[in-house]
Amino acid sequence: MKTDIEIAQEATVLPITEIAEKAGLKPSEIEPYGYDKAKINLDKDVKRDHEGKLILVTSINPTPAGEGKSTVTVGLADALQAAGKKTMIALREPSLGPVMGMKGGATGGGYSQVVPMADINLHFTGDFHALTAAHDLLAAALDNSIYQGNPLHIDQRRVIWKRVLDINDRALRHTTIGLGGPTSGVPREDGFDITVASEMMAILTLSTDLMDLKRRVNNIVVAYDFDKQPVTVKDLGVAGAITVLLKDAIKPNLVQTLAHTPAVIHGGPFANIAQGTNSVLATRTALTLADYAVTEAGFGADLGGEKFMDIKVPKLGKEPDVVVVVATVRALKHHGGQALADLKQEDLSALEAGVANLQQNIKAMKRYGVPVVVAVNRFTDDTEAELAMVREAAEAVGAQAVTADVWAKGGAGATDLAELVVEKAAEKHGFSPLYEENDSAVEKMNKIVQNIYGGAGVELSDKAKKQLATFAEQGWDKLPIVMAKTQYSLSDDAKKLGAPKDFTIHVREFVPKLGAGFLVALTGNVLTMPGLPKHPAAMDIDIDEKGRITGLF
Ligand code: ADP
Repeated sequence: MKTDIEIAQEATVLPITEIAEKAGLKPSEIEPYGYDKAKINLDKDVKRDHEGKLILVTSINPTPAGEGKSTVTVGLADALQAAGKKTMIALREPSLGPVMGMKGGATGGGYSQVVPMADINLHFTGDFHALTAAHDLLAAALDNSIYQGNPLHIDQRRVIWKRVLDINDRALRHTTIGLGGPTSGVPREDGFDITVASEMMAILTLSTDLMDLKRRVNNIVVAYDFDKQPVTVKDLGVAGAITVLLKDAIKPNLVQTLAHTPAVIHGGPFANIAQGTNSVLATRTALTLADYAVTEAGFGADLGGEKFMDIKVPKLGKEPDVVVVVATVRALKHHGGQALADLKQEDLSALEAGVANLQQNIKAMKRYGVPVVVAVNRFTDDTEAELAMVREAAEAVGAQAVTADVWAKGGAGATDLAELVVEKAAEKHGFSPLYEENDSAVEKMNKIVQNIYGGAGVELSDKAKKQLATFAEQGWDKLPIVMAKTQYSLSDDAKKLGAPKDFTIHVREFVPKLGAGFLVALTGNVLTMPGLPKHPAAMDIDIDEKGRITGLF
């Protein structure tokens, strides 16, 4: 069996100009980055009032056994294209954290991939580096303001703007800066987050244009002063420079699948600590140019799916016409108690217990009033009896399910899925938001926990309660909530697999993100700077004298 990188390196990749033409872009609307990548710059003077159907791919709660959302997204799009439908993909850009760490890349797998796979997984068009520089410029400007006489009276114990790096590095979580005497700054405690957790990333992915981005950057709260009043980027005066650094990063990137379906890849917030979907601009571009825009939300429906519906849909101005929940027999057996080492063995009793996780994620998505279908991503060892059990479990809660074999067969493995998606997308549907803007933060979170996670409600630490009281004084208490929660469980305890009941979600702290326009609720012990595992993927990656890369999965 060939590896993903071998398949990708053997692929015939068309010039990006051809892909752009196929997508309906004028030559002046793309800025090529080499042979097979380009930035898209839609000409505002070209009248395009077209809006395609939006297909959202999400999944069950992930397990180390792998689910294959990106793989199914790509395979489904290739199947739609093969069926003669004008299709475009909108995906996130991978972060080097997981690429060098544990999870691997985010370009699909097997015969359902976007290419150039290695470039996309590494530096791509430089967007993440630009974001890192923009974020850290702000951190430097803040510390410089403290150093230069502190005219804003910033209380250095109350700085909330950390620094970022797009590498998993647990040693940087808590740092001390400004050491080395009077000329090296004012010492204070600091720390690093991974770039994808930066508010800059959230802003980039929610902005509708460059001026919207600048407005949002100005609103970022970086610290509090000695009177406990917020200090913003506007006070520091560097929003213009930050916007300049992001002027290219804000443009969506165009690439192609192995079957030459156009794919827009842009922005990459994680769904466990941020809003977890590609940029509003990228999805809007795909909707404008294609009849079917296939997009993905990170991790399970409880995280990425919920945030897509509650955070992204209002900004995008369009709800999904169909939600595809990806499940695998292996992962569901693990949810039902089967050990990772035994997943190749048929185990119908573990599967019977594990399907509850799929059912809760289906119910969560159906709650919004849009059609939901299930794609069972087929692995070689799955048995017919197991596949049938998953389909029946999905149908029992009102979602039609089909098996997809996109990893082995590409688009040809998703013909049934594509047919089902086209049929469902044509159905009339409503959309009912989960919460109202005027609901209190606690009401919003209780609705998420009860309707999406299937739990009892939230419990706030004393710190979180105090924060909400001050947010009310600032007028921030009605902002949407981004739950930062483990991806592995519907609860905030990564070990509670399947579909736990009657659990409480513990909110330990809020992080106000005024530029992005939401409050992040930190639950359980979710981290915003991951660490590397004992044997990181980086130890298996190599390159030879011909430039051939191995080990990039
Ligand atoms: P997700 O988007 O859910 O994180 P990916 O689509 O990135 O998952 O897939 C994760 C890994 O699993 C990839 O390396 C991919 O090649 C592999 N994979 C996905 N589907 C299958 C399958 N059906 N059989 C074997 N490997 C698969």
